[in-house]
Amino acid sequence: MRIGIDLDDVISDLLSELIDFYNKKYDDVAVREDIFTWDFFPKEIHENFASSGGYKNLKLIPEAKELLAFLNSIGEVSIITIRNEEYREETVKWLEENLHGLYKKENLYLTSGNKIEVCKKIGIQLLIDDSLRFTKQVADKGIYAILFDNRTPMFRNAEEHPKVYKAKSIEEVKKYVLMIKDIFD
Ligand SMILES: [Mg+2]
Repeated sequence: MRIGIDLDDVISDLLSELIDFYNKKYDDVAVREDIFTWDFFPKEIHENFASSGGYKNLKLIPEAKELLAFLNSIGEVSIITIRNEEYREETVKWLEENLHGLYKKENLYLTSGNKIEVCKKIGIQLLIDDSLRFTKQVADKGIYAILFDNRTPMFRNAEEHPKVYKAKSIEEVKKYVLMIKDIFD
């Protein structure tokens, strides 16, 4: 099975850093529970965070290694992330430092637009992502998705979709991966 997995807030803890960055810049006191959509942050926050080297210092989500090891045992895993191509080098460096041996450099896809084009191009059958938008986008095109929320409040707004499984823990992700694998076997 070909599996796509998101990077930010599934493998790396972007949101914690972004909230800190936003609060410092705008002298605000936003907390995780306030963030229901990525539109919460002005575009310049995302851009300034990235251009000031923010991606380099992200922490690994504690369950990420276990999740990737499991997925590697199930199928071919690609990391698909919304980052500009200019951040490829530091993204690879971060992955090497944090997930050496658990990902393939040639299976890293950076895209600045949407994820459906990449998923279709490389034949992804299942996308694991914390984004409501991208899980719905691929599911609308017939690709299975697991909306994984162990950390992001955005999950709360999730509508039901026949091809989107909502998982709140790594155990639930594993359960749905095995269910979806059964469909293709
Ligand atoms: Mg994400």
